[in-house]
Amino acid sequence: MRLDKFLANMGYGSRKDVKTLLKKKRITVNDQMIRKADIQIDPDKDQVKCDDKVIQYQEYIYLMLHKPAGYLSATEDQRQKTVLDLIKKQDKVLSPFPVGRLDKDTEGLLLLTNDGQLAHELLSPKKHVDKTYIARLAKTITDNDIKQFAEGVMLEDGYVTKPARLKAVEDKMVEITITEGKFHQIKRMFEAVDNSVLYLKRLSMGSLQLDEKLNLGEYRELTTEEVDQLS
Ligand code: URA
Repeated sequence: MRLDKFLANMGYGSRKDVKTLLKKKRITVNDQMIRKADIQIDPDKDQVKCDDKVIQYQEYIYLMLHKPAGYLSATEDQRQKTVLDLIKKQDKVLSPFPVGRLDKDTEGLLLLTNDGQLAHELLSPKKHVDKTYIARLAKTITDNDIKQFAEGVMLEDGYVTKPARLKAVEDKMVEITITEGKFHQIKRMFEAVDNSVLYLKRLSMGSLQLDEKLNLGEYRELTTEEVDQLS
């Protein structure tokens, strides 16, 4: 793990803040003063200190789940199954939570992590993270739908959506990319153009693509590259 990522994960601020700490010679690794942010450390073996105080390593977990329909995007619910029911006990020790929500009947890519900062960045409306879905619709889309989605669609509550990319994959099957995460957004966008969503699956979120090798209900840890690309 890069030293700057280790320090940022441990709550020492952004990578920029960490650079400042390093510049000020406040960080040591195995009692050697370090000024380079990109050196690799092994959090299990190397001892990192800030101002002579040992920084205890706390592991983060990043899981990519192929969510099936029928599960709530929540950590617990009195009556219904949640996506945490699909996670093994040993991976739950680190308390991962779903990053954003997919509807109960929506399938596809769901990221679970205990990295609050990353979750916040991915969900922040300011960041405009692309989310791409495949949808099966009741009706064939029109060129006007594509134009309207690109310009912004007025939902039933008067909210006008941010530009979205809509493209036909086959008859009544579309790929749609949105940058927001309003409640039932895609379903409501199609309702607004007199259509309806019969099936919805998320394919990607930012740089993260659903691993096609994962069957419904299966998950795997993100690779270091996938985590780095997201943050
Ligand atoms: N839009 C929806 O309508 N539902 C989802 O689950 C995700 C996006």
